Amino acid sequence: SGDDEIQGNEERIHVSVRLRPLNDKEVLGNDVSDWECINDNTIVYKNANLSASERLMYPSVYVFDKVFRTDSVTRDVYEQGAKDVALSVLSGMNSSIFAYGQTSSGKTFTMTGITEYAIEDVYKYIQKHPEREFVLKFSAMEIYNESVRDLLTFDSTPLRLLDDPEVDLLSASSQRRIGETSLNETSSRSHQIIRLTVDSISREFSGKDNPSTLAATVNFVDLAGSERASQSLSAGTRLKEGCHINRSLLTLGTVIRKLSKGRNGHIPYRDSKLTRILQTSLGGNARTAIICTMSPARSHVEQSRNTLLFASCAK
Ligand code: ADP
Ligand code: MG
Repeated sequence: SGDDEIQGNEERIHVSVRLRPLNDKEVLGNDVSDWECINDNTIVYKNANLSASERLMYPSVYVFDKVFRTDSVTRDVYEQGAKDVALSVLSGMNSSIFAYGQTSSGKTFTMTGITEYAIEDVYKYIQKHPEREFVLKFSAMEIYNESVRDLLTFDSTPLRLLDDPEVDLLSASSQRRIGETSLNETSSRSHQIIRLTVDSISREFSGKDNPSTLAATVNFVDLAGSERASQSLSAGTRLKEGCHINRSLLTLGTVIRKLSKGRNGHIPYRDSKLTRILQTSLGGNARTAIICTMSPARSHVEQSRNTLLFASCAK
């Protein structure tokens, strides 16, 4: 696969990596940074103390569509890692943008900014196109233990997924404000999705068979901590950690790997709530961007490698 932008069905998943700075806790703990972004596409692991077997076992150079250095700002990540995919909603194409990474790597920090910038751009676009009439619908939901909850109501009753997930999820009232939830506690185990649907028609035409109708959805997905999908656990650890493995995250990994290989075979969307909800916005004609966030700290090297492995498989 080259760098050419391939349009339509053939388009690859856009994969970028954002390296955050060491945080205060890591600095105070005398942790050190082992990773460096050496250009716009390449991140390298530079621990000189590696054993020979470690050197053989793990790659030290990783290449992606884009890598963001520790000093990059979320505006850069949006512009170069998410904007095109997010704004395809304006031309009638469904899309999903994911933040993937271990807990505390910067998923929420990154995805919150991206969502805000994208919504701002959607509103700017609408202002510049008075010849069209737009209807925007927002919804927000959380998947926790394979149960889906509407974040725009105070009702904690799990939502039941109908065959067309749009039907019951988008009927959620967007009038009510987002509840003061205890998201921080559960965010390492839960997925949060903010979904924006844009419908538009040209004002020139009227009637039901308006040929200019466009309708599409963009999903901003702040995933559960990727440590919930660790596949490189030894047998003993697996047993102990088994109950923490997150089915939606694992299934998403499988779906993305299959899509990135361009396989026409069975894609197991129905195996998890997350992939069912995103089914029409993942694969097919939909566009996808994944931003993998990672800590530079030596103490997190195992999880960082897992994150880069996931990112490499999604390319
Ligand atoms: P996650 O959602 O992956 O668990 P957070 O987004 O909550 O992680 O980030 C953990 C902490 O690190 C937060 O205090 C956040 O503000 C900070 N942080 C994350 N990424 C960056 C960054 N690129 N630059 C500065 N601070 C960051
Ligand atoms: Mg978070």
